Amino acid sequence: MNQAAKLESLNPATGDVVGVYAADDTAAVEAAVARARGAVDWWTGLGFDGRKEVLGQWRGVISRRMGQLADLVHQETGKPNGDALIEIGLAIEHLAWAASHAEKVLRRRTVSSGLQLVNQSASVEYLPLGVVGVIGPWNYPVFTPMGSIVYALAAGNPVVFKPSELTPAVGVWLADSLTEVVGERALLQVVVGFGETGAALCRAGIDKLAFTGSTGTGKKVMAACAENLIPVVIEAGGKDAFLVDEDADLEAAADAAAFGAFANAGQTCIGVERIYVHERVYDDFLERLSEKARSVHAEYDGAIGPMTLSTQPDVVRSHIDDALAKGGRAVVGGADSVGERYVQPTVLVDVPEDSIAVTEETFGPTVTVAKVATMDRAVELANAGKYGLGSAVFSAKRGMELAHRLRAGMTSVNGVTSFAGIPALPFGGVGDSGFGRIHGPDGLKEFTFAKAVARQRMKPTLNLTTLTRSAKTEATFATLVTALHGGASQLPKRASRLRRGR
Ligand code: NDP
Repeated sequence: MNQAAKLESLNPATGDVVGVYAADDTAAVEAAVARARGAVDWWTGLGFDGRKEVLGQWRGVISRRMGQLADLVHQETGKPNGDALIEIGLAIEHLAWAASHAEKVLRRRTVSSGLQLVNQSASVEYLPLGVVGVIGPWNYPVFTPMGSIVYALAAGNPVVFKPSELTPAVGVWLADSLTEVVGERALLQVVVGFGETGAALCRAGIDKLAFTGSTGTGKKVMAACAENLIPVVIEAGGKDAFLVDEDADLEAAADAAAFGAFANAGQTCIGVERIYVHERVYDDFLERLSEKARSVHAEYDGAIGPMTLSTQPDVVRSHIDDALAKGGRAVVGGADSVGERYVQPTVLVDVPEDSIAVTEETFGPTVTVAKVATMDRAVELANAGKYGLGSAVFSAKRGMELAHRLRAGMTSVNGVTSFAGIPALPFGGVGDSGFGRIHGPDGLKEFTFAKAVARQRMKPTLNLTTLTRSAKTEATFATLVTALHGGASQLPKRASRLRRGR
């Protein structure tokens, strides 16, 4: 790696330089991990109460300076200040939840030892792994990495965080804010740089890597971690579907769909990218959505800002072009909506399901709307994609049923992206959206290993774990197993009646 590599973060709307950093090379990343290793005993030694206290103080620091952090997010991503504030507020809520629930979720608890080993007392607890590496994206530079960072910390692990090259200042701000609480303890360190710095983090001797970013990079991260059998959480891209049933509140559905598709200029992993609408309400819904789309204009300090990544407009344009070339129509926007840095909302209809506008993550303020004859068909089409991150259903009567049938890690019913703001709910996907979970009890356990202990509390009646075991003990054991489990092979009375046609 080039040790002199310089990293400049720029305001995507103005081109102004927000921060200049020397990219951390392999040696610097390894040194950060070594420092974090040095903080492990102190951090685990604080116990749940001590860690809760530290994380509580950190929460106070971030909360009191939200405005300052939001301004930095606004500068590095171009997103509106209000969006940045909401993102930070949600991250703070997760920080509070993780700190206050870690003990309840992870502490030792007894479990049944079963009839065969009734002389044992069995318990399980969840212990910290050591040092956790976190690699984050730029689209929600506070909320997204904090989903891993705060759960890893609350579970007892120091963290080394590599923010996106587009948002290093936000990453440094987060680490500095915790330094105010813990001084020189290397509890949360930031390594800045390009992809190479992230790759170095994977190989720097960490105990787990939590990655949030694109599916393609996620595969590279997994391959690098596999070299040393380092476990990974992969929070990757999505192509979220939004279902509208015939009995849905159409105004609420259109409002939620517009927010899901266009907020943050569509640069949201759980953004709405495909909409499937029951044919009986299709025209009405489309008209409402189109009206809302027309009222949104991407501009500096507008409701939506610029594309943060300079190459993203080309991706969005290629998806719109492909949709139109394959017979789709733009009822709002279209190819002309894609400017050099700003992309105006686009609503596409009649787009074939094999168009890349339907199959690949667009990550821009565009959405496809398709008419379906039944909600079964809507579920089928929603599940046909390779991603499975978030999803949404608008339905008066069938919301929970349809949600259950969607192959996605998360679903909002009569709302959009709401699951992300509920700290007790796990966040993550299936398929090309990745695996593992952040947030909630699952998110805490993700950064631990299960420690099982069986303690003998009395001498066994049948001692099976001795080389002097007698034939009589074995026979008694066999009799016991038959008595306990032999009945399982008999057909239940009801099943045998059914077989006889009664
Ligand atoms: P990228 O995959 O481009 O980058 C993600 C992070 O990985 C960045 O910090 C990047 O560094 C780093 N990186 C790049 N190459 C490597 C490498 N070889 N080894 C290790 N790390 C590397 O994603 P984006 O930043 O563009 O983020 C957008 C993507 O993130 C979208 O696909 C979106 O759906 C997804 N996302 C998923 C979420 C989820 O929870 N499932 C939430 C938010 C976003 P650098 O920036 O310096 O290149």
